[in-house]
This record gives sequence, structure tokens and C-alpha cells, in this order.
Amino acid sequence: PYPLNLTKSLSRALQYRSLRLYYQPIVRPGPEDSWIPVAAEALLRIEKDDGSVLTPSSFAEALNHPRLARSLGCFVVETGLCQAKVWQDEGLDLQISVNVSIPHLLDPRFLEDIERLVIRPSQVSPKTLTLEVTESAQIKDLDQASEALQQCQRWGMQISLDDFGTGYASLTYLQKIPVNTIKIDQSFIRDILAYEKDRAIVYGILAAASKMGVLVVAEGVESPAHAGLLCAMNCPLLQGYWMAKPMRADNFTKWIRRVGGAFKS
Ligand code: C2E
Ligand code: MG
Ligand code: MG
Repeated sequence: PYPLNLTKSLSRALQYRSLRLYYQPIVRPGPEDSWIPVAAEALLRIEKDDGSVLTPSSFAEALNHPRLARSLGCFVVETGLCQAKVWQDEGLDLQISVNVSIPHLLDPRFLEDIERLVIRPSQVSPKTLTLEVTESAQIKDLDQASEALQQCQRWGMQISLDDFGTGYASLTYLQKIPVNTIKIDQSFIRDILAYEKDRAIVYGILAAASKMGVLVVAEGVESPAHAGLLCAMNCPLLQGYWMAKPMRADNFTKWIRRVGGAFKS
């Protein structure tokens, strides 16, 4: 199931440092149609020598390769936290979200890795880190996953259930996994303008989440009309191309300065 060339190109990228994290803002609606950036989701890219950039759609399966998942996971957490530290030193107060693969989450060394990389006095507080766990993949051992994530929460990290609604056991995951945030998958957001049914699903998730004291991010917000409707539905957090695409860290900082948020005075 793991195409050799993909796995090779990803491990080569890791080895030769052509792996990059891009960052996409997660925002809260502010006064007068403004956005208040609250978090940055780190998303993997491979920057090639010819200047082109590969997105995970071209190497997604390799992310879960048993021999790669752990080193990639460590790279992402370490790099994301370094960036958070840079931003914090610039006075920028942002949560950093990283995607955790299921093989890494279920690796017996996962908590060791997290403890080594995250619980460091010289670094940003563990509270700055959100771990996104995708709902679309099957988690073989839900109890083990749940226990590991609970330990991360005790250390102060936030847990986010990604791609919510697309899995085979969404509600079971929600019941068993300790989550602070649900990210409604973009497939439910895309057609909320056209379809009553999709709107009803989003309303239902928002209502259930609010009763559980869980925050909600709508993913894949692509137009002002989508953003407007989601705000009218009281969706607390939005992420999507309409606000900003994933960007290199330097461009992210420029974007933040332009929208004028998140810097402490
Ligand atoms: P995800 O975690 O659900 O990330 C959101 C994806 O939606 C990103 O795709 C982002 O670029 C895309 N997106 C954001 N806003 C919009 C929008 O308005 N419209 C549309 N059509 N798409 C939007 P990307 O960067 O290609 O990543 C795809 C998936 O690859 C991620 O989905 C995540 O599951 C995985 N991935 C990315 N980075 C990592 C990583 O560091 N580790 C692991 N394990 N998986 C990762
Ligand atoms: Mg994600
Ligand atoms: Mg997602």
C-alpha cells in the first residue's frame, strides 16, 4: 500500500531538509468583518530544487508509512514549536496546530517523543500546541490513543478532532477521545450555501459541540458568502482559502501584520 517512490522521495526530503512547514491561519470573527487570527495549522510541503512545491496530495500515503511516520511526526512537532517560539519572541501570540498521524500516535514511543520535544523550559509552553488527530483514519486501538492524548492534555496541550464527520465512527471517536476542538470537514462546508441538508448537519455539530463545551473550526471556507453564513450560524472559528491559503512562515507573518491582529502591543 506504500508506493516505493513516494516513500523514497519523502524520506529523501526529510534527509536533505527540503521538507517545509507552511502555515494556514485559523481565525475568529472580529468586529466589523475583521478576522482575529488565533492559531496557525502547520502543513507539510516538499520544496523541490526547481522551485516547485509538492503538497500532501502527492505523498499522503507515505505520511503513514511505518518507517517514516515517527520521524516525520517528530520533525513537524519540533519545527512547529521552533516557529511558535520565533513568533512569540516577536510578540505574536498564536496557537500552533500540528497533524499527528495515527501510526505515530500508536507508536509506543509517542509519549516519549512528545515529552522530549514539547516539555522544554526554554521553549513555548505546551499550551501553545494543538495536536490534530484525523477522524478519517481507523484507529486500531482507541483506548491506547485516548490514553496517550489524555496524557498530552495533562501536559497542557489541546486536542483537535480533524476532518470530523468523514470517518466510520465519528461519534465513537468524539465519545472516546478527549477533544477540545472539532474541525468540521470541508466536504460538509462546501455546499452549505446550496443545500439545506448540509446546513442542518453543520447546525447539529455546532449544537452538540456547544453542549459538550467543545470548540468548532469550519474547514474549507472558500468565499465571503461561506464565511458570512458560518458567522451567522455562530461558528466560533474558521479556516480556509477565503481568509488565507497555507503560506511560508515569513509570508504568514506579513499576512498577520496586514490583518492587524494577534500582536501584543
Ligand atoms: P488537514 O489536516 O485537514 O488540512 C487541511 C487541508 O485543507 C490542507 O491541505 C489545506 O491546504 C486545505 N485547505 C485549507 N483551506 C481550504 C479551502 O478553503 N479549500 C480547500 N479546497 N482546501 C483547503 P494540505 O496542506 O494539502 O494537506 C492535506 C492533508 O494532509 C491534511 O489535511 C493532513 O491530513 C495531511 N497533512 C498535512 N500536513 C501533515 C503533517 O505534517 N503530518 C501529517 N501526519 N499529516 C499532514
Ligand atoms: Mg489538520
Ligand atoms: Mg481536515
